[in-house]
Amino acid sequence: IGLKRGIVIKDDWPGYSLDLFTYPEHYHEDIENVYIPHGIIKNRIERLAHYVMEDFDEDKMVVLCVLKGGYKFCVDLVEFIKTLGRNSNRYLETRVEFIRLKSYLNDQSTEDLHIVGSSDLSFLRGKSVLIVEAIVDTGKTMKALLKHVETFQPKMVKVAGLLVKRVQNMTDSLTDYIGFEIPNRFVVGYALDYNEYFRDLNHICVISKTGKLKYKI
Ligand code: 5GP
Repeated sequence: IGLKRGIVIKDDWPGYSLDLFTYPEHYHEDIENVYIPHGIIKNRIERLAHYVMEDFDEDKMVVLCVLKGGYKFCVDLVEFIKTLGRNSNRYLETRVEFIRLKSYLNDQSTEDLHIVGSSDLSFLRGKSVLIVEAIVDTGKTMKALLKHVETFQPKMVKVAGLLVKRVQNMTDSLTDYIGFEIPNRFVVGYALDYNEYFRDLNHICVISKTGKLKYKI
């Protein structure tokens, strides 16, 4: 059970002082702290790749990357899976597909699932599928996406969530591989945005009041 929750970040974790790391200078006033350093994110994803290799016993998988927030997680996870495959006697062939969802305006979740672009996922039929999502908050988005994916009758579906927020919900039953369980705070970086800003930040950080105001729309 403990393993299932991933690395648990406590409510009172203050993050690391910005002075201890490097980050794009233009964000100096816009972030409070370094919440999860890039190196730790990578190390954790390497471990998740092991879990995935253990569970997917076929020789092929389809990785469904949820854009835009999931792109860095997806690239790193797939790279670790490939490296594992080259260094073992079982290579897991990965086909990567993308789906773009939009549910947030500023830092508020909006109601329903919006698929940007094609919603036809018929290429998933009969396949072993790994959905790769950067963050699961209330779980509404993932629930809706899972329901949509199931209509295409894949053979198996697993969900990897780099971050899962600790909110009173059922999200841990939705996410099979969790990188970090975090408190209910709005985080950015490592491809997670605030109105399209901060995707170019490698660490996961907590946005500051100044940042929220500056990039509000
Ligand atoms: P849910 O439907 O689980 O409440 O929301 C999931 C989506 O909300 C994620 O795919 C992500 O786009 C967005 N989201 C939720 N929490 C955060 C956060 O702390 N930071 C950012 N940048 N996006 C978030």
